[in-house]
Amino acid sequence: MALVNEHFLKLPNNYLFADIAKKVNAFKVMHPKADVISMGIGDVTQPLCPAVIEAMHKAADEMGTAEGFRGYGPEQGYDFLREAILKNDFLPRGIHLDIDEIFVNDGAKSDTGNIQELIRWDNSIGVTDPIYPVYIDSNVMIGRAGTVEDGKWSNVIYMHCNAENGFVPQIPKRRVDVIYLCYPNNPTGMVITREELRKWVNYALHNDALIFYDAAYQAYIQDDSIPHSIYEIRGARKCAIEFHSYSKTAGFTGIRCGYTVVPKDLTAATLTGERIALNPLWYRRQCTKFNGTSYISQRAAEAIYTPEGKQQVKATIDYYMQNAKKMLTTLRSLGYEVYGGENAPYIWMRVPDGNSSWQFFENLLYGANVVCTPGVGFGPAGEGYVRFTAFGSHEKTDEALDRITTWSKK
Ligand code: PLP
Repeated sequence: MALVNEHFLKLPNNYLFADIAKKVNAFKVMHPKADVISMGIGDVTQPLCPAVIEAMHKAADEMGTAEGFRGYGPEQGYDFLREAILKNDFLPRGIHLDIDEIFVNDGAKSDTGNIQELIRWDNSIGVTDPIYPVYIDSNVMIGRAGTVEDGKWSNVIYMHCNAENGFVPQIPKRRVDVIYLCYPNNPTGMVITREELRKWVNYALHNDALIFYDAAYQAYIQDDSIPHSIYEIRGARKCAIEFHSYSKTAGFTGIRCGYTVVPKDLTAATLTGERIALNPLWYRRQCTKFNGTSYISQRAAEAIYTPEGKQQVKATIDYYMQNAKKMLTTLRSLGYEVYGGENAPYIWMRVPDGNSSWQFFENLLYGANVVCTPGVGFGPAGEGYVRFTAFGSHEKTDEALDRITTWSKK
């Protein structure tokens, strides 16, 4: 008899964005003429930049020739992309990585989920709350999270981030083996200062803990004092794995490409105290379970590091950040308490009048025909907040803000 992995059955069978879609569809059935604007889902809307399109055309043409055809590529990614990553994402920040420390992937989601295969099932994990749900769900699937009660997993240590503590996660009193950090943060849109990040690196070094650092939104950082990579902090090479994504950096949500950094200095212990390097383990894992990202996607990613590519990608990020600025200004002028949005494409808003985040979601949908994301979908500390994304077009964003203004003044 084949036995199912019962840990899957512990997962809540409601998926946040599916629930939102259901509620929006129900509204549309009742109001077929309503033009609903989504500021909910974190997908980009602006087209790929010309440098990327050109690189993809060129790569496709190459693949159509006997000399240029490529089959399976290296599991870690092509050198041309890994070299461009080292040269552009790290060297200018004084970070010297080896090419074999870079693992190109098909986007950050897979690796942020899969990375937990490297650690034993009984490690404790700590997450900021609210949080990108993949970190917890992937640990639930392997049985590491324990059981759920009141929206919290018994073996997960939650580090609340809310307006009261300035969205700064506090180092937990209980020992934690693995800490997930995501900055700039999804969903709150907040960032971490160098000093605060240093505290986490020091904690990990002194307590033999690991940090899984998700930098998927680093390209949105506007303030130069904010770290783009955890490796800007001394000692992080010995305790941190970092995830990058081209999805929000360059509109690659449909193309699929990103990368993970697993430094060679990084080790974890066996039960007998032997130190094991994680880089070769991850390499082994990737060779077994991953056959590389498509050549065309990797050429597309390489193109964003060319002078034209850099300029074009920045223009799109600036475009979204203009939305974020307008959203912050408008929502603040209406008296709402809003956070984030200055170094990230997300705005985190406290729900007024003590309503629940789902209640506000419904009120906004029915009152202004605008969709936001209920904060509780990102964890217990998200209750009482909603998330707005700045990924819309200027026109849709302006229209949504006008509607929110009219609705709020009623
Ligand atoms: N990490 C965070 C924090 C995200 O918000 C997302 C996507 O929304 C991802 C990772 C995954 O990005 P992708 O798999 O598209 O690279």
